[in-house]
Amino acid sequence: MCYSRNSLSAHKHTFMSQHMHTSPTPCKMTKYIHVALGVKAFNNLSRNQYNNIRQVLKLECENVLPTAKKLLRLEKQCYPDDITVTDTRAVIPLKNLTQLTTKRVIEAHNSEIYDKIKILPSESTPKVIHAEMIVTWGMDGTTGQSQYNQGKTNSRNQERDRTQPNQTTNNEIIEDKSLLTVSMSVQQLRHEDENGNYICLWDNENSQSVYSVRPIQLEHAKETRVNVRRIYEDIKNQISKLEPQRFICEDMLLEITYKFYPTMLDGKVYTDLTETSGYCRCQLCRSGPNEMSDINNLDNGRFEKTHRKFVKEHLYFNTQPLHTSMNVLTTLYDLSYKQYVQKHWLEITEEEQIVLDVEKARIKQAMWDAFNVRVLEPRQGGAGSSDTGNVARKVLENPELLAKTLYLNEEIIKRICYVLNQIRSLEPVDDLDEFDRYCKETYRMFLTTYSWFKIPVTLHRALAHAKHYMEALPLPLGRMSDFDNNLHMIKKRRVALSCEDWFFDASVLTNEL
Ligand SMILES: [Zn+2]
Ligand SMILES: [Zn+2]
Repeated sequence: MCYSRNSLSAHKHTFMSQHMHTSPTPCKMTKYIHVALGVKAFNNLSRNQYNNIRQVLKLECENVLPTAKKLLRLEKQCYPDDITVTDTRAVIPLKNLTQLTTKRVIEAHNSEIYDKIKILPSESTPKVIHAEMIVTWGMDGTTGQSQYNQGKTNSRNQERDRTQPNQTTNNEIIEDKSLLTVSMSVQQLRHEDENGNYICLWDNENSQSVYSVRPIQLEHAKETRVNVRRIYEDIKNQISKLEPQRFICEDMLLEITYKFYPTMLDGKVYTDLTETSGYCRCQLCRSGPNEMSDINNLDNGRFEKTHRKFVKEHLYFNTQPLHTSMNVLTTLYDLSYKQYVQKHWLEITEEEQIVLDVEKARIKQAMWDAFNVRVLEPRQGGAGSSDTGNVARKVLENPELLAKTLYLNEEIIKRICYVLNQIRSLEPVDDLDEFDRYCKETYRMFLTTYSWFKIPVTLHRALAHAKHYMEALPLPLGRMSDFDNNLHMIKKRRVALSCEDWFFDASVLTNEL
């Protein structure tokens, strides 16, 4: 079964100009309508609940909330056009979602944006202001999520029979254990002046909020290389066809172009897309395990952008910081228990394995005692386990305790934690060259102190290439990739119940929250 929903777009084209012409200080109700919609959507308020709150406010304080009816009208405008929902996937054309999201941003922030662009110089009449919207996008899969018998029915309220296997009317079994999500998030609207400096017109202050991440596509499919590449090519193709969007602001024209960065990808998707032979080769400088652990390469330019093997395009992908932190922490646990044997795992004898197992158990217990976190356990629920971010945060905040718990060099652990925190940060690094020197020095210390240990790609990438990423991407790395929240949301709110519900839910994005 397949149907598409064409939402009302009749007044879509005129809405912008009307809105921009409203007086600079609109009445309170108009002013708060976006806030009200945000609060209603965020708290999942029913119409009745909303009306009750409105009545109380109206009687006891002030009449600030618009009627539920008005809100519903605005809510309808938040729907993108042409959502296609089938039993296994829900898709929306990227163009529609991008334009709608931009329109919503401009509507909700029109007076601030207008104030900023009216002072910009422009030679043409009418004044035309060019701006670019920075958008991050990416995909990720979750596996092992509970089955919701998706596909049994498209009705929202019908009882789902959980005892029956998942079958469609054609008796086709749907792979609803795996969910592949493609999302985007608008980050910043900026204008480049004649000197090449950027003037921020609007900044997504809530880029970390789940409400900033909008789904382009949801599919019950596995995160396989074939699927990942198919989706990537499709979205890339759609991006290349995007045209600039124009908005009328009073006597000016605001022309917005889009810059998409596929940065919301985790390690696995990244590897699938960048086609390195397995996990052990660096996607940027193409160094293998031996090269990465060779201290001479720190000085001879092997890891630098100027090296002939360096793949610059891969800088625009960025494995998400949370995954990086988690992977590096896993490396540290490995390092900690392997230091009793100091060998590659292929050369470990049976007796040594027993020692390692004991050590491994010790670390598990010690990490639990020190940080209240479970480590070195096979992860359940795939890479998107909702608590990964919290675990990383908890541990990285206390490097001294981590070093003590793992019996590792405190100075090195402190430095690694500092670097990881900078990579996760939402703020830019002050002095990039200084930071790079710090990273390289940490790299050198690590190789000298743990010369028997082959440095893994994630740690190599953090220490050798953090600067390269920061130079290449327009916003701090923490801003460029945030995906865990999205998966977390899917699980928490169980919107996987029905793709249609999910769109219904998530499309009520308001940037005021
Ligand atoms: Zn993943
Ligand atoms: Zn490298």
